[in-house]
Amino acid sequence: GRASPPLAALSQVLRLERSRRTAIVFPLQKLERYLAPGTDTARFRLFQPGLAALQRAEALFRSDRGHPIDYVSSAVRMDHAPPPALPEVCFIGRSNVGKSSLIRALFSLAPEVEVRVSKSPGHTKKMNFFKVGKYFTLVDMPGYGYRAPQDFVEMVEAYLQERHNLKRTFLLVDGVVGLQKTDHIAVEMLEEFGIPYVMVLTKIDRASRGLLLKNVLEIQEFVKENTQGCFPQLFLVSSVEFSGVHLLRCFVAHVTGNLPTVEAR
Ligand code: GDP
Repeated sequence: GRASPPLAALSQVLRLERSRRTAIVFPLQKLERYLAPGTDTARFRLFQPGLAALQRAEALFRSDRGHPIDYVSSAVRMDHAPPPALPEVCFIGRSNVGKSSLIRALFSLAPEVEVRVSKSPGHTKKMNFFKVGKYFTLVDMPGYGYRAPQDFVEMVEAYLQERHNLKRTFLLVDGVVGLQKTDHIAVEMLEEFGIPYVMVLTKIDRASRGLLLKNVLEIQEFVKENTQGCFPQLFLVSSVEFSGVHLLRCFVAHVTGNLPTVEAR
């Protein structure tokens, strides 16, 4: 298998000096000091687990003989999806938003897991199911684009509407370009179905601090004013630098019911 990238494990992050460590584990908090005084940052800290919870979550994402993490199957239709036996999360976003990179980062402590990419034009877009031991499943939904074919839209809609074990949808938004027209279409779909979701801002290492702040504040405002089902705290990630990935693992563990308590930091 592949070697884990640096900072894929908390033990590596804990060796960093304090401010660098905060930037990796809580990237949103790192931005706080650059905001105008009086900016409402309560939403930055709604989910703020302590080290013990982060470590428990990491253990879920680390495979071993007694705890296999596997790609299960791919499906193009709901009746091909595996039985809804475990709590489930799904990841959706525009093509190229960084979805496969993020899923690879989440699973980097299970290097045998192969995150398949089917990007070539004309290639059938599928939902890919991953099973994390006996704890939860993670679904990589096909990337949507400007000209998403109708059968793809129908597949995603059917999944979101019918999947009763779906605990949370992670909607990925590009941290460099912010919310796009197609992202709004996804938001409208999620709002219409009334299912809980959360926004994840990707590739934050590629955005300047100013641009990142602008996108974060704009999206926060949008979520506050226009959504019902979206978790008010944004998650920021870089799959290259590994920032936000540990926190996201912990949130996945939490929403799938695998962290009995999340004690405050
Ligand atoms: P997908 O189509 O959503 O699965 O997107 P990919 O994961 O394939 O990423 C699309 C492009 O963005 C690739 O060139 C990646 O190398 C790049 N990319 C993805 N995530 C990051 C990130 O966190 N930081 C940077 N700098 N580049 C990224």
